[in-house]
Amino acid sequence: MKSSEYYDIAKQKIPGGVSSPVRAIQPYPFYTARGKGPQITTVDGAELIDCCCAYGPLILGHAPPAIKEAITNQLSDGWLYGTPAPSEITLAEQVIGDHPSIDMVRFVSSGSEATMAALRLARGFTGRTDIIKIEGGFHGAHDAVLVQAGSGCTTLGQPDSAGVPADLVKHTRQIPYNDVEALTTLLEKDAQSIAALIMEPVLGNIGPILPDPGYLEEVRKVTNEHDVLLIFDEVITGYRLGIGGAQQYFGIKPDLTTLGKILGGGLPIGAFGGRKDIMSMIAPAGPVYQAGTFSGNPLSLTAGMATLNYIHEHPGMYAELEKKTARIEDVCIGKGGSFVRIGSMFKYYFRDRPPRNYREAKEADTSAFRIFWEKMLKAGIFLPPSQFETNFVSIAHSDREIEAISQAYKACI
Ligand SMILES: *Cc1c(COP(=O)(O)O)cnc(C)c1O
Repeated sequence: MKSSEYYDIAKQKIPGGVSSPVRAIQPYPFYTARGKGPQITTVDGAELIDCCCAYGPLILGHAPPAIKEAITNQLSDGWLYGTPAPSEITLAEQVIGDHPSIDMVRFVSSGSEATMAALRLARGFTGRTDIIKIEGGFHGAHDAVLVQAGSGCTTLGQPDSAGVPADLVKHTRQIPYNDVEALTTLLEKDAQSIAALIMEPVLGNIGPILPDPGYLEEVRKVTNEHDVLLIFDEVITGYRLGIGGAQQYFGIKPDLTTLGKILGGGLPIGAFGGRKDIMSMIAPAGPVYQAGTFSGNPLSLTAGMATLNYIHEHPGMYAELEKKTARIEDVCIGKGGSFVRIGSMFKYYFRDRPPRNYREAKEADTSAFRIFWEKMLKAGIFLPPSQFETNFVSIAHSDREIEAISQAYKACI
């Protein structure tokens, strides 16, 4: 069967025909038969170089042999116990070792779960009700953070979701990214009711949008001054911008961190961790409840551990990834739009200057992007189907693929 035929059936059985909104490419999305290395093969027989990388997790490419072997070995011992197992200690020690800000960590099954738990924890620890999020920041699909989220929400032009009580969302304050003054003003007025600021250190779901020099340092300083917890949502940037994520890249110590995506080696995972005095509030050690049937399942932990092992054994890979991504950037210079890149996260914006916040990102010419995106697909390059989703390069992208991507950019912009 062809992709169009699958989609016709899917639309009858699954809302919008997809399991997550951004995948609903019109008139129909391609259906994937298999992924290997840097490449996806569609059921229609097309071979595409993948710059979506499942929206971030696949930093080693599709089905890397080291991860496959670890998963296969675990399978023979079972894949869900409902009891503690040694693998959670191993991965916890690794995550703690990689992040000086993390004294203790708990594993969950998705990034959304991680941010949901981190926010409850921040409220439980401080006894305060409100949270601050950054406009255009995305922290998963739960009520408290579905307020001007980036990603699928932005593309669909519905920043709020139906079904989210206004009464609840009024406790979520919004400020623009790269605006210390907005944060300071809000905290000077209302800090006593604010538990935490949750933010992606680099906005990844409307971009990337990069922090101005000194911005994150100021954010850390001002939140400290007002005893407001700083939560870095590193679900994308964790193990992407380096072994210690964005906090290492920029030298900032948040109070809590959320992780996901790369941490699971392609299997579902999330984690939240941070200061011991805060994390000790989590049940059963403390009064903040958090639980999950699949939390810390041995299969995700094993795939994650194998990924982190690989990364630690190949510390040069981040410089390598950066070099590859920079080569794509080179061909895009002087094309009229703006190329934003940090490490192996990148995006070509159809806007003359790189956006500094959500409002500026929204000025990008999305119709031009759409035409460009289709041309790229015809040229054999799969980019995330939104002007506002970050593109990624994996270590499986060899010089050959990087050259093909670069040539396609040159021809299609
Ligand atoms: C993807 C993402 C999430 C949500 O993670 P899921 O595993 O999809 O629930 C949260 N925060 C950020 C920054 C993300 O990029």
